[in-house]
Amino acid sequence: MTRPIVVVGGGLAGIAASLRLIDAGQRVVLIESRKKLGGRATSFVDPRTSETLDNCQHVLMGSCTNLIDLYERLGVLSSITWHRRIWWANPPRTHEIMEPRRLPAPLHFGLSFMAMQLLDASDKRALARAMWRLIRLGTEGREAWRGRAFSEFLDETRQPQRVRELFFEPVITSACNMPCGRCDAFHAMFVFQAGFLQDAWSPVMGLATVPLASLYDAAHPLLCDAGGALRTGVSALALAFDGDRITGVVTDEGVVDASAVIAAVPPDRLAKLCSQTLRDADCRLARLDEIPFSPILGVHLFFSQPILTTPHLVLPGRATHWLFDKGRDSHGRVHLHAVVSAADEWIDLDEAAITERIMHDIHWALPSTRGIDPVAVRAVKEKRATFACVPGIDALRPKATPDGVRGGIKNLCLAGDWCATNWPATMEGAVRSGYLAAQGLIGGRGVVAGVPPAPLARLLGL
Ligand SMILES: Cc1cc2nc3c(=O)[nH]c(=O)nc-3n(C[C@H](O)[C@H](O)[C@H](O)COP(=O)(O)OP(=O)(O)OC[C@H]3O[C@@H](n4cnc5c(N)ncnc54)[C@H](O)[C@@H]3O)c2cc1C
Repeated sequence: MTRPIVVVGGGLAGIAASLRLIDAGQRVVLIESRKKLGGRATSFVDPRTSETLDNCQHVLMGSCTNLIDLYERLGVLSSITWHRRIWWANPPRTHEIMEPRRLPAPLHFGLSFMAMQLLDASDKRALARAMWRLIRLGTEGREAWRGRAFSEFLDETRQPQRVRELFFEPVITSACNMPCGRCDAFHAMFVFQAGFLQDAWSPVMGLATVPLASLYDAAHPLLCDAGGALRTGVSALALAFDGDRITGVVTDEGVVDASAVIAAVPPDRLAKLCSQTLRDADCRLARLDEIPFSPILGVHLFFSQPILTTPHLVLPGRATHWLFDKGRDSHGRVHLHAVVSAADEWIDLDEAAITERIMHDIHWALPSTRGIDPVAVRAVKEKRATFACVPGIDALRPKATPDGVRGGIKNLCLAGDWCATNWPATMEGAVRSGYLAAQGLIGGRGVVAGVPPAPLARLLGL
């Protein structure tokens, strides 16, 4: 029997790569150090309550065509609900609604923006100026902003402080896990151009209705039916390199011979799997230790009475960025999830201090909840949640495939949201990298095409 292709890392990138390989008739061994799949987009059983909780709420968008393709392959697309409306808190008024309405893209948010009272008329004019500039820049114009801070663009388009705080910061900090002043403008602009402006489907928000970990259940039987294996609870220790090719993966349970390897682990982990000889040989591996990270805090809060009246809520201008209604847990308690992106300032706080701050924001956004406190809390700190999307980050992100790379080892592909995909650190970026890596080894299907811009958006420059 020929040696299998070994995929190291069972996050979204590794799962995506594995499924593409088996669909092309390859035998795959997927090695994952944890007991379950999903990596950073997964669930855990909380030992305090025995509840299955997601490490954090994960949001996808209509623009995530490759993630949607993967969910379809796993047979779980029906477990995603789609939300056209995004609710924004604006106390003491009722929540504001942002949604695509009647007008063709890129004007589709125009009507709901005009109705929103969060921003006044001059704020809205300034925002329209920035959006118009983003439309006219198009994708080519965006390239010129690679390596600059997005705040420079906000300065250039004369955005008032209120518009920055109430609109740009919540959107960019959530999407790129980095505030505007420290976020690479190329990626922030991508969020608006491809995620909001170019068509009306891309900004529709998808939320899983089941625990994230269960989305990947089908991967195991699919791998086995194709003659391969899923080995969870097994850690890769090193990539075996003979000076020319990768010959296998050394694990804590012995060596797994490989015809080729896809390394789908985060960059700091990959650095530990590579000998200096290997890193010197393939320049994709040279700068793995330089990739910076940015934290996210997810807080599960349980109440004895309803809190949110909408499925989710953006808290503009607050330290807490989003609230999500997670329904009721198995004890009948109301389950709310709060998310703080770029959470550097929160990482050293204990759970009591975190709860106090989050509740302060909840009481601000929902004044009728003042005086109500949670009956239980579970804060999940992810210190290395995503790569830090700082100016110049793309120079550190290696290609998934060895083609055209100095010393690129032919039977080694890389995958992970940190690889060069032009996407910020997202589930979509991870799946794209996995598909690219599989294509790099065996050819065939690569990434699924993105959503095309609507005709008027294309005509105007997007
Ligand atoms: C708190 C939080 C919130 C987020 N919110 C969103 C969101 O709303 N929307 C969105 O699109 N993205 C979000 N993301 C980002 C998203 O989770 C990631 O981009 C994506 O899951 C990365 O997938 P990956 O496969 O590249 O990496 P990972 O998920 O990190 O997978 C790597 C896998 O490799 C395994 N591994 C590591 N070392 C070894 C080893 N030596 N041997 C074997 N296995 C190993 C790990 O256990 C892991 O399972 C969020 C991330 C976090 C942390």
